[in-house]
Amino acid sequence: MLPILARARPDILALQPYSSARMEARHASIMLNANEAPWAPVGNPDSALNRYPDPQPPALRARLAEIYGVASAQLLIGRGSDEAIDLLVRAFCREGCDAIAITPPTYGMYTVAAHTQGATVIEIPLLEGFHPDADALLARIDDCVKLIFICTPNNPTGTLVPLATLERLAVAVRERALVVVDEAYFEFARDAESATTLLAAHANIVVLRTLSKAFALAGARVGSLIAHAQIVALLRRVQAPYPLPIPCIDAALAALTETAVTTMRARIDIVLDERERLARTMMKSAQVLTVYPSVTNFLCARFVDAEKIYGQLLARGIVVRDVSHYMKLAGCLRITIGTPAENDAVLAALDDLSTVSPQPSL
Ligand SMILES: *Cc1c(COP(=O)(O)O)cnc(C)c1O
Repeated sequence: MLPILARARPDILALQPYSSARMEARHASIMLNANEAPWAPVGNPDSALNRYPDPQPPALRARLAEIYGVASAQLLIGRGSDEAIDLLVRAFCREGCDAIAITPPTYGMYTVAAHTQGATVIEIPLLEGFHPDADALLARIDDCVKLIFICTPNNPTGTLVPLATLERLAVAVRERALVVVDEAYFEFARDAESATTLLAAHANIVVLRTLSKAFALAGARVGSLIAHAQIVALLRRVQAPYPLPIPCIDAALAALTETAVTTMRARIDIVLDERERLARTMMKSAQVLTVYPSVTNFLCARFVDAEKIYGQLLARGIVVRDVSHYMKLAGCLRITIGTPAENDAVLAALDDLSTVSPQPSL
């Protein structure tokens, strides 16, 4: 057994996994082992929706593995990266005693998953420039910490964590904790190298990828966890028997053809150009104090009065993310890069707000 697996919850290691009908026998001409309806559903007569889906559809697994440059056995597909985060916490953290470590300001789901499981969250704030404080982090790692979540590029700051930092963390906690590298925005970071390149040398690294952002499939809920095959097998025990609905599998396959990937890349080019245009123009606004550098499809910016800007954008039908309550992000809003027209609307709104003279007070 992989040494790091000994850090999983003992009851999960001992668990007898559920064996679904579809896992036991997949291909026969007469399928009478899963209590399914023998007819296609009303409304979708030409579909196979009366059948349970493949738990880990081989075609999708093979294509994702190819795109991510890993082996199929290293891949666990689920309902977005959010499910992967939840599975990791459930499989590794014992309620009331184990912990995760995070580097705020960062993605909120790590904490939600930990608290749902009754695990503790240890926060090691990012340093100036939003770099992780590896020394401080390692100083806080004790026997209780099972998972270290590092988001790179980080949401909501838009910053990249160097692979060398990830590798240093992985080496330091080798048989004690998993370093979970959330790469939800990887496709937007043009020159970045994926932490999947560290997997061969470091069995305690787990990489999360998703089709929700660059591949435009947030509504289909398809994400991948990439790790040592033994970690994948362990998490599969905790995952629902049929996590992926058939229409979502089909949508994912359609978004991953060679042509689709070419289109995705061309759209990223537009997003990156637009991000630079938005950043440049925003920096000239009297409402804006700082636009933080970003390698993602969003910008994090500090405003003179974020609450006012948020409200006035909303009044114009534009909703952005208020991240001003995040650690170190007082006065900040996170703005997703939209279509050129949508970005124009944001800029026009900021422009209006800057030129409107204050109402004379009575
Ligand atoms: C959007 C996002 C995800 C994606 O979650 P899905 O469940 O795959 O949609 C994961 N991590 C971060 C940091 C994100 O911002």
